[in-house]
Amino acid sequence: MYWLLEEVTWEEAKEIIAKADYIILPTGSFEQHGLHLPLSVDNIRADNLVMEVLKRADKYNLKLAKLPTLPYGCSEHHMHFPGTVTLELDTYIRVVTDIGVSMHRHGAKRFLIMNFHGGNIQPLNIAIQLIRMKTGMKTYLIHWTQYARDLIEQWAKPGWGHACEHETSMIMYYRPELVRKEKIVKPKVKTTAPITEFRYFDEITDTGGIGDPTISKPEYAERIIGEVSERILKVLSEALKME
Ligand SMILES: [Zn+2]
Repeated sequence: MYWLLEEVTWEEAKEIIAKADYIILPTGSFEQHGLHLPLSVDNIRADNLVMEVLKRADKYNLKLAKLPTLPYGCSEHHMHFPGTVTLELDTYIRVVTDIGVSMHRHGAKRFLIMNFHGGNIQPLNIAIQLIRMKTGMKTYLIHWTQYARDLIEQWAKPGWGHACEHETSMIMYYRPELVRKEKIVKPKVKTTAPITEFRYFDEITDTGGIGDPTISKPEYAERIIGEVSERILKVLSEALKME
């Protein structure tokens, strides 16, 4: 069973939050995705891929409630490309923590962040710690791509990642009209230094993307969505059983 909190009243929300096994916050970003994809790629993935998980909840006997996707993330590394919006790390941590604490105040049992943007991972790890510390509520973080990596690598080339063949295939599948097909090119990617370093994305690639979007196909996305959703649902039910 699942509910979309954005579509219910406060009376309904009261019951749903009390009943739900997990309250889910999808997290995306608003940032450049190369020459051929829109700024909202991570939000389109977040909206649709979390729905894929919700739709399969009954099979795992899970009750899931979803908040609206948080459409802004930590995207400093993309700020040299126009249109990108970034929240500073401390702002982002505070926003996510406030959302978790709000749900706890309404009786949430567990809070789950489902993330779709790499730049959010480090601050989200801090936010889940803060939410747990402030509320005692079980708080989890799932980075979708982590559950998909081996499946993506069955067809994607080494070096996939941002605005690449994986993300392009996803947008071809969910929102094909948003892909500028005539703009798809293989970016020139500069090799990385052998030391950890913060780099802006224009220091890495000429187009804003990496990988090889020229090999993208919507079928590549379609093929893995079910399996990844099931993997995530499995870990969610395992976490419940371990309590
Ligand atoms: Zn992305």
